[in-house]
Amino acid sequence: MALEDSYGAHNYHPLPVTVATAEGVWVTDTSGRRYLDCLAGYSALNFGHRHPALIAAATEQLGRVTLTSRAFHHDQLGPFCAELAALAGKDAVLPMNSGAEAVETALKLARRWGYLVKGVPDGQATIIVADGNFHGRTISIISFSGDTEAHDNCGPYTPGFRSVPYGDAAALEAAIDETTVAVLIEPVQGEAGVVVPPEGYLAAVRELCTKNQVLMMADEIQSGLGRAGATFASSRAGVVPDVYVLGKALGGGIMPLSAVVADRAVMDVITPGTHGSTFGGNPLAVAIGRAVIKLLEPGDLQEHALAMEQALRDRLEPLRAQGLVGLRVHGLWAGLDLDPALGTGRVLCEQLAEHGVLAKDTHGSTIRLSPPLVITTEELDWMTERLALSLKALAG
Ligand SMILES: *Cc1c(COP(=O)(O)O)cnc(C)c1O
Repeated sequence: MALEDSYGAHNYHPLPVTVATAEGVWVTDTSGRRYLDCLAGYSALNFGHRHPALIAAATEQLGRVTLTSRAFHHDQLGPFCAELAALAGKDAVLPMNSGAEAVETALKLARRWGYLVKGVPDGQATIIVADGNFHGRTISIISFSGDTEAHDNCGPYTPGFRSVPYGDAAALEAAIDETTVAVLIEPVQGEAGVVVPPEGYLAAVRELCTKNQVLMMADEIQSGLGRAGATFASSRAGVVPDVYVLGKALGGGIMPLSAVVADRAVMDVITPGTHGSTFGGNPLAVAIGRAVIKLLEPGDLQEHALAMEQALRDRLEPLRAQGLVGLRVHGLWAGLDLDPALGTGRVLCEQLAEHGVLAKDTHGSTIRLSPPLVITTEELDWMTERLALSLKALAG
């Protein structure tokens, strides 16, 4: 911790826990203390730490080849693209590394599609986003973020974005004009505190996009791959976007692996040289990605997450009497608002850590719980008991 503080950039403010090892839903710190991991790498660890099938896939690939660059073919990329396209019900996959890179890729894809297919005059494309969004922290992405910490003092900002209130289809409709090429939206806003839009909103977004020849781009980096109790939060809402943006859990918590998934008619505006990344689609990452897809194909993990939604809600609801003033549960994912009189989300997370549960505040007095999808009801009981004790400690 001291070395990090002395020599590392201070771009995070971690809880004072130093993880040494991990397995499944549990992590152990350097002094041998165990914690239940209810952050799960912001949903990058949907399958838990070191899932045997993912470690096996990684180990096998480490013994074969790890990097070729995209200057040559390798034998994992084709199958990965085919398998991910099938999982998403689309034609084509563009692999990248981090989530922010995949979002940047989607923005380029949308603008190119706007100019080359829709016929928007060059340089005039607009992309509509939602207030409260989190899509990453590159310059272009923070240009349309309301998060002042990531945004301020980083200008000049990238133009071409409009932000409208999340969950308000009428506001979206009013913002669309002939320059609009895409709507970029989180089907559930994770960093905002697991904010679930009103019933019918995503379907309305879909309809507006179709009607106005605008691409619906769903950022499912956090909501996708099982977290929302379905393969995608969009699919749970009965909606098929034009473009999926995936990341986090796609790399199994082992390698950074992100992807943009779309149909050919959209993806083919990307041609050789127009986009790329040295590590994007590397053999090690996509071999792990293939094992991730294999875990999702049967659908039982998604069903488990959906079944656990009620279990999670049943356990958290009674805690309203203990200082929770807001609660949103969607799949195996919860946003909790602590009564500000009891403290900040940070203070609650510090209490939780002392009681053996790792979680992270999103902002203000809000925390998020997103345990690995493999969590059992017994472990959920234990987490709830610890959360109740932490709230009691804050109430003093
Ligand atoms: C985490 C996240 C990102 C950014 O992913 P990174 O891998 O951190 O760059 C983008 N969108 C959403 C919805 C996210 O949760």
